[in-house]
Amino acid sequence: MAEKIVLKAKGDGAIDYDVTFTRSDTGQLVIGCSCPAGHHGKSCKHVRELAQGDTSRLVDPSSQKGELDRAVEWFNESPLPGIWARYGHAEY
Ligand SMILES: [Zn+2]
Repeated sequence: MAEKIVLKAKGDGAIDYDVTFTRSDTGQLVIGCSCPAGHHGKSCKHVRELAQGDTSRLVDPSSQKGELDRAVEWFNESPLPGIWARYGHAEY
């Protein structure tokens, strides 16, 4: 069964976004965001900052810190850090 973590991320304007970490039974991690960039399958800044454990991006750090820690753990166990480092993502 796939596991899922949904984090509320602060946008630059008044809108907050949902960043969703989904891990399949095979350990494959997919991260999505409800912002316009995330909708197109890019790793937007919300995804990148949360995956790196940046609590300042959370709408409610005190209640979501535990979930963020878990999401970061999933991220670090996945091949994504290496892929991001290799291909970069600065243009998003
Ligand atoms: Zn986003």
